[in-house]
Amino acid sequence: MPGLAIIGAQWGDEGKGKVTDLVADAADVVIRFQGGNNAGHTIVRENGDVYKFHLIPSGILHPGKICVIGNGVVVDPRVMTEELETLRRRGVDTSGLRISANAHLIMPYHLLLDQAGEARLGKLQIGTTRRGIGPCYADKAARLGIRMQDLLDEKILKQKIYAAMEPKRQSLRPHEKDPVLDLHAMTEEYRTFGHRLEDYIADTQRIVWDALDDERLVVFEGAQGTLLDIDHGTYPFVTSSNPVAGEACVGAGVGPKDIGEVWGVGKAYVTRVGSGPFPTELEDGTGERLRAAGGEWGTTTGRPRRCGWIDLVALRYAARVNGLTGLVITKLDVLTGIDPLYAAVRYLGPEGSTFDDFPYHQSILHKARGEYRELPGWNDDITAARRLEDLPRSARDYLDFVSEFVGVPIVLVGVGPGRDQVIWTDASQSRSLLAA
Ligand code: GDP
Repeated sequence: MPGLAIIGAQWGDEGKGKVTDLVADAADVVIRFQGGNNAGHTIVRENGDVYKFHLIPSGILHPGKICVIGNGVVVDPRVMTEELETLRRRGVDTSGLRISANAHLIMPYHLLLDQAGEARLGKLQIGTTRRGIGPCYADKAARLGIRMQDLLDEKILKQKIYAAMEPKRQSLRPHEKDPVLDLHAMTEEYRTFGHRLEDYIADTQRIVWDALDDERLVVFEGAQGTLLDIDHGTYPFVTSSNPVAGEACVGAGVGPKDIGEVWGVGKAYVTRVGSGPFPTELEDGTGERLRAAGGEWGTTTGRPRRCGWIDLVALRYAARVNGLTGLVITKLDVLTGIDPLYAAVRYLGPEGSTFDDFPYHQSILHKARGEYRELPGWNDDITAARRLEDLPRSARDYLDFVSEFVGVPIVLVGVGPGRDQVIWTDASQSRSLLAA
């Protein structure tokens, strides 16, 4: 079964980029299936080179790989062309990139609507990245979206832009004189993007099917995380798409049986950007320590991330929602020197109530606090560990506790930002998959 989905098991920023980058070595095709340039991956290469990706799959760093932007992704063509240009300037071969002709485009009015929407919400704002992603998905659902393929036909493009802007007249009124909203100028600009991207636009479903049919490894690269899922996350403080594994099928155009393995990536602690419930949040010195040690500031926005103890109630929920077959625990090294450690095993709700499972009701979730299991920490530097046996006993016990509680084997552990700073475990399925 040559399909492997790698998804975020928490609130995003779990280090999925590095995991996909590692697995991309063995993959033939890497495909992004949802989100837009609100995702940010930081990849550190062996020579210390740092690459930041917002849209293009990080697999592009591997010459010869096919890197696909699936139909479920929303594409800001300005960001896409800039990202391509930056990569080319750094000598990266971008010829493996393919963009689904059905992927939707972020338009200048989506950006304006996103900014205006957040400003209007004031204190209730969602904390979006203001990149126009939510309004773009909204237009997709309203059947007013403009797709990659529309860039190739000026007449259709202009008609569609006109049709999409008409119903937004009222909301866009404050920007009436803004030159970015001029129909002719916008059509021209997007035609230019079309010329630049034309060679990359393809029937990406077919590319993925062919690879799967030939038993070649296809990696479905998730963005954001399970708890930010528009259906299964902490709505409304969520992203506007579905980061869960099921979306890998929809956003790439394959069936559930094409995905044999689902790896959930989670940090050894938890972070979240923006507003919304966070039962294990640490608003004290320990939280600040995690932020500093883990470099917890957003790749895309630079915003400080909220930090807290690992939340096993939420992680077990993520395991079920995604059907995880493997867990990847990143940033174990960040916990070094914190003793004791705590892991949430239950939630305490209002009036003495307790919850073993992730509560569906937002009023409960907003008030929930973790009930913790205390676990011994460690002080030894673990960044050079490459086998589980190299870890101190308490670090191994910590991992075992997490894996047993969640009921999913750990396939990979991160012990530092570098590509080589990982421990592959013996979880056998993963080995056979990567050998495929
Ligand atoms: P993503 O969007 O899920 O890929 O996450 P980000 O790229 O926003 O955040 C991951 C950050 O953590 C990057 O700077 C990585 O280099 C770094 N990172 C990944 N794994 C580890 C790890 O095991 N230890 C440490 N210290 N840093 C890591």
